[in-house]
Amino acid sequence: MNFDSLIGQSVLKKNLLNALSTDSCAHAYLFSGPEGIGKSTFAMDFARMLLCTENGPAACSKCIACNTFNVGTNPDFLLIEPEGNSISVESIREIQAEAIIRPMYSNKKVYYIKQAEKMTQQAQNSLLKTLEEPPLYCVIILSTHNPEMLLPTVRSRLLKFSFSKNTNEEIVTILKNNKLDSDNTGFITAYADGIPGLAIKLASSEEFTELRNEVFLILGKVFGDSIKGQFDMAKFIINNSDNAEIILNLITCFYRDLLVARKCKGQGVLINSDKEDMIKEYCNHISSEHICSIVEYIEEIRRNIKQNANIELAADVLAMRLREE
Ligand SMILES: [Zn+2]
Repeated sequence: MNFDSLIGQSVLKKNLLNALSTDSCAHAYLFSGPEGIGKSTFAMDFARMLLCTENGPAACSKCIACNTFNVGTNPDFLLIEPEGNSISVESIREIQAEAIIRPMYSNKKVYYIKQAEKMTQQAQNSLLKTLEEPPLYCVIILSTHNPEMLLPTVRSRLLKFSFSKNTNEEIVTILKNNKLDSDNTGFITAYADGIPGLAIKLASSEEFTELRNEVFLILGKVFGDSIKGQFDMAKFIINNSDNAEIILNLITCFYRDLLVARKCKGQGVLINSDKEDMIKEYCNHISSEHICSIVEYIEEIRRNIKQNANIELAADVLAMRLREE
């Protein structure tokens, strides 16, 4: 285990492997980056490598530290996750009480605080004490998609690494490795926009595929000059209000593709690359101005939905706007 299961993040890997092989790891790390980018997988691999008792940076998967880690019983490792919506001061005190006991198998103990932005202010202040004077054998890893939620005093004591988005080629490889590649891979890759967790989630979701098929079916009706298409779209959004965000995003991607198809005649730039024929046909039936106004209105609906606006009214108005010039 040598970060091999993770595709991409080469700078990060190089840095940490170097620290592991020269035994110069920091006492506290902050991994930040968008949700689904792989922070947790990476943190767990790093913890395993820190704890492996064999020489060399890679985890051997054979020693007692690796074996117990793999089944979740390594006494030198503690994972702290939110309970409900927050990480309480009690959870952080658990680290402090635990950290004074010397490691059992390894020469290190690792504490991983996942979704660290969920720590209460009190929890963060408590953690600060440990960060100021950590026992020599302790390594604390924090991961978050929102580092701004951490106190500046906490942040300043962490060695920071931010995760970069994966390339499309990397996402394709990740989907293949997870046996999730299909006719849809081109679309999923473009839609996931460099986030492997999102690509995997969408590629394995039948519900997402069904929602997308339905959206395209209704858009076909809208462009087929049918008033019914508009009503169907409004009804579809209202009936699937739990998935409104996804549906609106799918509609935005479609109109964004129409705009791209109008402006660039080249290939390989569409998100819905598997619907190229349909998009190239429909893009001639709508003006760029109308497309932009639809996309802007969808953005407005999204903002309003977050503030609990009336989704039925918003869906009705959107349906009307899809047609009117
Ligand atoms: Zn090992």
